[in-house]
Amino acid sequence: MRALKLTGPGTMELVEVPVPEIADHEVLVKVTAAGLCHSDLHILHQDENWPFFGTTLGHETAGLVDSVGAAVTGLVPGEAVLVRALWACGECRPCRLGADNACAVTGTRTMFPLTPGLGADGGMADFIKVDARHLEKIGELDPLVAAPLADAGLTPMHNVNSVLPYLTEGATVVVIGIGGLGHVALQILAAAAPEARVIAVDTDDAKLDLARSRGASLVLKPGPDAAARILAEAGEHGVDAVLDFVGVQPTIDLAMSVVRPEGAIRIVGLGEGHAQINADLSGEPLPWGVTVQRAYGGNIADQRAVIDLANRGLVTIESTAYPLAEAQRAFDDLAAGRVAGRAVLVP
Ligand SMILES: [Zn+2]
Ligand SMILES: [Zn+2]
Repeated sequence: MRALKLTGPGTMELVEVPVPEIADHEVLVKVTAAGLCHSDLHILHQDENWPFFGTTLGHETAGLVDSVGAAVTGLVPGEAVLVRALWACGECRPCRLGADNACAVTGTRTMFPLTPGLGADGGMADFIKVDARHLEKIGELDPLVAAPLADAGLTPMHNVNSVLPYLTEGATVVVIGIGGLGHVALQILAAAAPEARVIAVDTDDAKLDLARSRGASLVLKPGPDAAARILAEAGEHGVDAVLDFVGVQPTIDLAMSVVRPEGAIRIVGLGEGHAQINADLSGEPLPWGVTVQRAYGGNIADQRAVIDLANRGLVTIESTAYPLAEAQRAFDDLAAGRVAGRAVLVP
């Protein structure tokens, strides 16, 4: 079978490898779609110290059950499944508390839990082998829509859930970056917090048009007047929550300059910016009481919730399909900002 391997800093290769053998608790999944994520670009451009060279890329995988190990129950060949992106142990204290995205067994205090494409072989291949407990049934969902739910659905679901307590009547939420994750966040907000006023920020006109069509009441580009325009819309006291799907310094600065005291900032994008907290008497740069969080992915409940929204037609993912053999073109298009919605590789 074919597998897209990360071979070194900045290099990947589609190679022939044996179809994996499955153990009793595992399932062989025939891949039908593998989403391409901005984080795959980050992975591709790590330096020579990156521990995961030789791994098959891909943490957003949909497919059909091909065969199951002797101990697997409840899954039959031909069934459509989503491969969860976080392979937690399911037994440790964080897992039992529902924070499997902070699993203490497959992850450490500073390293995220085991993730296909990051240590375990991922889904940019003809087949993937998965422990049965990391699979979710997806019914009739289009694989091109389903695959990105493993991250582009999961991660915004988790972050929206974490700010829902802030989105009471009259609330305003700012979504920065209307790409693969941000455009899903808008839909989840419409479903989960229909009363909240949504402001969308992006550099791209087409993405702002998309945001407007998804219910944003104000769309704007970042720039020197962005904070003032947001405060003019939301009120001078600030917005209740900011979801930053970019994470570069200007977007984090924007988030900190519009959030209200006791509000929430969620930094999702891996743009390498930083949020500063000063232990002094001023409300600068961060107002009093603001919670700033960056979480890895989301938990199993978030994953199931966003699959449910997709099955009910409340979340749809705009995707652009590329043959697996043209993965390099997909990566190049993503790096150049030429992909509408999510790029999805199809074996
Ligand atoms: Zn991702
Ligand atoms: Zn665990």
